Amino acid sequence: MSFKKSEKLYQKGLTHLVGAVNSPVRAFASVGGNPLFIKKAKGSKIIDVDGNEYVDLVLSYGPMILGHRHKSVEKAAKKALKNGYSFGASTENEITLAEIVCDAFPGMDKVRFVNSGTEAVLSGIRLARAFTGKDKIIKFSGCYHGHQDALLVAAGSGLATLSLPGSKGVPEGAVKNTLIAEYNNLDSVQAHFDKYDDIAGVIIEPVGGNMGVVIPQNNFLKDLKELCKKNGAVLIADEVMTGFRSKFGGAQEVLGVEADITCLGKVIGGGFPVGAYGARNEIMENVAPLGGMYQAGTLSGNPIAMAGGISTLTELKRQNPYEFFDEMGSKIETILLDAAKKYNVDLSVNRFGSMMNPFFTKVKVTNFEQAQTSDTEKFAVFFWEMIKNGVFLPPSQFEAWFLSSALSKKDIKIFEKATNKAMQKVAS
Ligand code: PLP
Repeated sequence: MSFKKSEKLYQKGLTHLVGAVNSPVRAFASVGGNPLFIKKAKGSKIIDVDGNEYVDLVLSYGPMILGHRHKSVEKAAKKALKNGYSFGASTENEITLAEIVCDAFPGMDKVRFVNSGTEAVLSGIRLARAFTGKDKIIKFSGCYHGHQDALLVAAGSGLATLSLPGSKGVPEGAVKNTLIAEYNNLDSVQAHFDKYDDIAGVIIEPVGGNMGVVIPQNNFLKDLKELCKKNGAVLIADEVMTGFRSKFGGAQEVLGVEADITCLGKVIGGGFPVGAYGARNEIMENVAPLGGMYQAGTLSGNPIAMAGGISTLTELKRQNPYEFFDEMGSKIETILLDAAKKYNVDLSVNRFGSMMNPFFTKVKVTNFEQAQTSDTEKFAVFFWEMIKNGVFLPPSQFEAWFLSSALSKKDIKIFEKATNKAMQKVAS
């Protein structure tokens, strides 16, 4: 397998792009080597500039739930394109997408569209403060909520990959109202409520996806909601990753919890830049122009992105692939565990529907600390052997793998063969 053209583009890209990437998770910093450059993708496959084809388990870090270039999504986007790309005024499709989203999340009467998950969360946090009149926010270590200043502490995703406790350039003042708790540890949240009476809200990835996949244990989410209620704080579910992926109604539907504020992104735009935050009327009425919380966007509700979102969610509802995801996911899980057993490699796999990943550790991972027991050098060996055998994975131990409804039995066979080779290499 040759990566010559990728290598050449990488060297060229270094001149005017930072690290030749536009998002640090795309760099191969923690697995060694240089990033691949992609030429195109279709269905379950992605093809790099050297013509190497891979089964894609990155899926643009989640959005491509139907696989790449789904017929109806492409048709809808092309149709929208012909009418103009941006108007700075309202369109009917914004109402249509809002209806689909509010129908899916019972706790949402109104929604506001933005352009990314980061924007969705920073607005959701502002809304929690506007609604409660309080300042402090509790977040969980290992959870990533985009790159807004206030939440770039003890964060997962790229910070976990690069082993950064926080980001340079974030002033102390920006994080002075951020409190850190431990995932799956209600006492650590209670301790903050015991100490402070100005906590506006608790933000959580209802299923952790940025420290690898970490699943809430027992009734953690339900108990958290109760705790928030008791203390006059709101529960903010960051469903940027899990929204429409865990189930049509997100992780909240699976876990039977209704958050006060929900943040969305990724799947909601089907690969186009869309984010959203929503809540019940009483909360959303604080947002301008109805209320005094300001939040705006030149390209928000962009017509192409709205068309992409509507067609993606409509197709997703039609396909209802959640059982299929479970079936495929459990096959992949079994393949990983069987290969690990065969080659005597310590491996622990976490999976929540179509989100999963293996940790190279004996430990059952239920929080960030446990995730960090994973042997990242082993992951790097595993990663490159998977690439060489036709499987595209996120280049980090701490990023979730995603499944699409375009995944075929043939893809699973490719995955199985690659996994066995990769695990053998890890063991050698
Ligand atoms: N929240 C979660 C849970 C995410 O996984 C991400 C991105 O991976 C974000 C927020 C930020 O979204 P975006 O990268 O679209 O700004």
